[in-house]
Amino acid sequence: MDNENNEEEINRKRKNFFTHNENRRCKEGEGEEKDDQEKNGFLDLDLTLMFRSTTRPRLQSPENNNNNNNLPSLSLPPPPLYLQVQSILASTPPIEVSPQVQSARRPRKSSRVAREGMNEAIPPPFPWATSHRATVHSLEYLLSKQLFKISGEVQCKRCERKYQMEFDLKEKFLEIGSYIAENKSAMHDRAPDIWMNPILPTCQFCKQENSVKPVVCADKSNINWLFLLLGKMLGCCTLDELKYFCEHTKNHRTGAKDRVLYLAYLTLCKQLDPNGPFDR
Ligand SMILES: [Zn+2]
Repeated sequence: MDNENNEEEINRKRKNFFTHNENRRCKEGEGEEKDDQEKNGFLDLDLTLMFRSTTRPRLQSPENNNNNNNLPSLSLPPPPLYLQVQSILASTPPIEVSPQVQSARRPRKSSRVAREGMNEAIPPPFPWATSHRATVHSLEYLLSKQLFKISGEVQCKRCERKYQMEFDLKEKFLEIGSYIAENKSAMHDRAPDIWMNPILPTCQFCKQENSVKPVVCADKSNINWLFLLLGKMLGCCTLDELKYFCEHTKNHRTGAKDRVLYLAYLTLCKQLDPNGPFDR
């Protein structure tokens, strides 16, 4: 009885999963076409965004919000393949499992938990963050809400003073976006040294150069990701914090810090500009 129900359930989920994947593939296809157009003209993005936000001001934001809400919830049912693998594992007699295999399976489990956790809405920790963990609003949305400056807490390594610092959203994003558009092919999915060891800002008080560190919130759901991106200070995060970001943004690949950091940069840029040249 249970098995029959399970099979029905799996079939239902499989149907949903494939429909969802088809939809997603369509969207990705569109994105790729646009990528080609944008390869040489990243700055057009700015104009396009401005153009879009003045021509279709209202329809766009609710549409985007719906998409944002839909994506994580659609991925809630574990993919059928995963279920199949689980049931196969359960029915096969225990084979000798080497410690390596065990540790390879563990992240999978935790990523499933993360996927479920990702659907729990959190109170947005900043006006530029959404209620999804590790997710910020699009540039178009932020500009339409007059959010031009993104602030965050920093602390000087020398005089130890803590203060708020802010970055111009459009200016900094264009800087980072252009850098990625120009250098992505040479990065080979790894963060360049300048991202790994960022040059820190000069202290406003003691004027010490390369001395102001972002204060990264201990509660990972409250990390100011957009501030870190715009200051090019994501590299100040620990590997653990970057993995948290990746787990909650459907990047289920773990690895060395340079790989996870690369994913964090690309993913945040894509959140800001879903049609930009930021596919992983
Ligand atoms: Zn100082």
